[in-house]
Amino acid sequence: MPETPHESAEPAGFAAPAEAAAERRAELAANLADVRKRIAAASAAAGRGTGEITLVAVTKTFPASDVRLLAGLGLTDVAENRDQEAAPKAAATADLPLTWHFVGQLQSNKARSVAGYADVVQSVDRPRLVTALSAAAVGLGRELRCLVQVSLDEPVPGGRARGGVAPDRAAELAGAVAAAEGLVLDGVMAVAPLDADPGPAFERLAGVAAEIRSAHPGAAVISAGMSGDLEPAIACGATHLRIGTALLGGRRAIVR
Ligand SMILES: *Cc1c(COP(=O)(O)O)cnc(C)c1O
Repeated sequence: MPETPHESAEPAGFAAPAEAAAERRAELAANLADVRKRIAAASAAAGRGTGEITLVAVTKTFPASDVRLLAGLGLTDVAENRDQEAAPKAAATADLPLTWHFVGQLQSNKARSVAGYADVVQSVDRPRLVTALSAAAVGLGRELRCLVQVSLDEPVPGGRARGGVAPDRAAELAGAVAAAEGLVLDGVMAVAPLDADPGPAFERLAGVAAEIRSAHPGAAVISAGMSGDLEPAIACGATHLRIGTALLGGRRAIVR
């Protein structure tokens, strides 16, 4: 019986997505190898072991299929910055043994949703959010690990708010997290300033982290360093790197 065009086209129709997935997997594997090399070099230069550093993949704007591929490549930690995008992605990959980090500015009314899938909220920057996250964690019977986000931007009147508590208020906020039911204070997080050398800013963060740790010895996490500045972050004691572009490529305009 002669093949109809439809029948002969069918196997190709199934093969194409598999090939695309294999190609994407190879791309992510190569990027991951490059990032791991940079981490190894920066750790060696700082006299630190790579075992002290957790690589967190920031998967915002990329599909759940990429999260799955990264997990297959050995990544254990993923991060998102918007609840609308994170919630379905976490649900679509709920079968994977992943630690989910929330790293974006968070409205109090989204606290309950985020507490449903996040293991770590890195962007705790005000008392009201502590209250909301605590209530959400207690309500869900979960324990949420929290980082106090510290602003490293120079305070500019009318400047764009990028989140984060002022360094001189961070210890107080950390105390509120530590005292809140359902929350565990894990440490600090920061994003380097936009138009300044990240090194001195990460040094300031290390100072804030040390101050907080003196009162809360378990709060040992310093989340700092992104694709462009992971080396100075490692030099300043970062324990967690949040890497998007260097792992996944340029972000797309369309959010899935
Ligand atoms: C997007 C994002 C990152 C990752 O940035 P890259 O430069 O793409 O590595 C890290 N941290 C936060 C808070 C982000 O929003």
